[in-house]
Amino acid sequence: MYCKINDKFKDECGVFGIFGTKEASVLTTLGLHSLQHRGQEGAGIVSFDGKAFHSVRKQGLVGDNFNNKDILSNLPGKTAIGHVRYSTTGESKPENLQPFFANLAIGGFACAHNGNLTNTYSIKKQLVESGSIFQTSSDTEIILQLVARSKKKKIIDKLIDTLQQIKGAYSLVILTNKKLIGVRDPFGIRPLVLGNKNGSPVLASETCALDMIGAKYVRDIENGEIIVITEDGMKSIKPFKKIPERPCIFERIYFASPDSIIGNKTVYTYRKALGEQLAIENNIIADVVVPIPDSGVSAAIGFSQNSKIPFELGIIRSHYVGRTFIEPSQTIRQFGVKLKHSVNRSCIENKKVILIDDSIVRGTTASKIVKMVYEAGAKEVHLGISCPPILHPDFYGIDTPNYNQLIASQSSLKKMTKLVGAKSLFFLSLDGTYKAMGCEKRNSETPQFTDHCFTGEYPIDIAEILKLNR
Ligand code: AMP
Repeated sequence: MYCKINDKFKDECGVFGIFGTKEASVLTTLGLHSLQHRGQEGAGIVSFDGKAFHSVRKQGLVGDNFNNKDILSNLPGKTAIGHVRYSTTGESKPENLQPFFANLAIGGFACAHNGNLTNTYSIKKQLVESGSIFQTSSDTEIILQLVARSKKKKIIDKLIDTLQQIKGAYSLVILTNKKLIGVRDPFGIRPLVLGNKNGSPVLASETCALDMIGAKYVRDIENGEIIVITEDGMKSIKPFKKIPERPCIFERIYFASPDSIIGNKTVYTYRKALGEQLAIENNIIADVVVPIPDSGVSAAIGFSQNSKIPFELGIIRSHYVGRTFIEPSQTIRQFGVKLKHSVNRSCIENKKVILIDDSIVRGTTASKIVKMVYEAGAKEVHLGISCPPILHPDFYGIDTPNYNQLIASQSSLKKMTKLVGAKSLFFLSLDGTYKAMGCEKRNSETPQFTDHCFTGEYPIDIAEILKLNR
């Protein structure tokens, strides 16, 4: 076999890098800590001390694995990059933890990747047939292999050569012995920002990582841009034909941290606007608006403020269990929902309740919570979702299940309402979603975002992945 056909090249990740500062690895640890919502399965850092590269990659949370004393002794140097990772079922192997590092003929090369490539299988097949040996089941490894085999002389040309062969979503942070490099794919699907910490350039998936280390936000890395940082300064390279950017709309709806800034506004502002828009579109008579925490809180505030129905913390979330998605099997995931949420009876008993969450994926969370709320004595339970039904899986770096597990893809609204057990279930329209994002309307020719989860319009061909998933 060339490679395991059923390898799932799926990651939800966060990346970070800092150039030319004392305690680079400590700052990277802090940055990764603030990006931990993007991946909790494992974390890694690679540093360069002027002579050698150093690497630590551990399964588990940043805070549990990286402490001040060890970081400084094990990861010396003034430049470092880091990665937090969350993969899907079956791929939770230590060798898949990033950043990946390779000693190339031209020198050391470390790479951290957020996103998913869509032509991994065909490239990997070619590489394996011509003698490459793969150590991991991650799509990111093909980037290192292609850079290593490129016939170009300079590292940047080797990288451009590689980028011209790969397809898909990628925000990359790369470290060599002289350079810190940031790359965003031609559509800019996953985020990447540039910051500055007392003169030291910083790259990070989200601005919350800049806030964490007291760095100033400079700008977003543009779609299709390579930014090269050296002792001599910063250079921007745009090797692709410019196309309109299509960032993933789900970053704003669910994935990014509420305090991160995207397009001059906090993610919280967008989520609140989604909730307001949901209230504008749905006039439900009820006594209380209750968020499903934490993901539904911002939208529920918006819904409550717009509908004038009081906001109450009717569900309490335990912060000592991870995301329910982290559990590999459906049975454990269901149990996880109970571990995670409990009902605050005083806000619910004898009330008509509107529950708000940001999204429904499999429907597990919603059905458990609706049941709990009825059991706590609610008179009526309505469920509002501050985005449209998720009808299609993501293949660009957010973990969503296949079609057959996506409740909205399998069931009509009536059936879904019955499955979740609510009196009514309502979703935000696609137009309303775009309005909440500050767009007058969705541009049907070239939408301002990639919204494939709702529309099935994938800006980057996914035929190869669909074929493998069959
Ligand atoms: P489910 O229980 O499968 O319907 O999942 C819905 C819950 O998971 C909602 O509370 C969402 O905020 C959250 N969610 C949505 N998308 C994802 C994702 N890609 N990874 C983890 N959690 C998610």
